[in-house]
Amino acid sequence: MSINYICLRCEWHEKFPYDAVRSFELLDDADQSAPPQFVCGVCGGTMYPEYYKGVQGNEYRIDNVRGE
Ligand SMILES: [Zn+2]
Repeated sequence: MSINYICLRCEWHEKFPYDAVRSFELLDDADQSAPPQFVCGVCGGTMYPEYYKGVQGNEYRIDNVRGE
């Protein structure tokens, strides 16, 4: 299982293993309002998961942050 991440700036996408994303979330235990995010290797923008369900059951969708 892997999580598809998409760059909010340039639309570059990359898959990360679910286990890696999950352990990243567990390390960063403070903020439940946002999913684990990565830096785009192409443009340096923010990579956001297309869909990710966090360890606390929170669901994150890129549609929620893409704006208008
Ligand atoms: Zn990018």
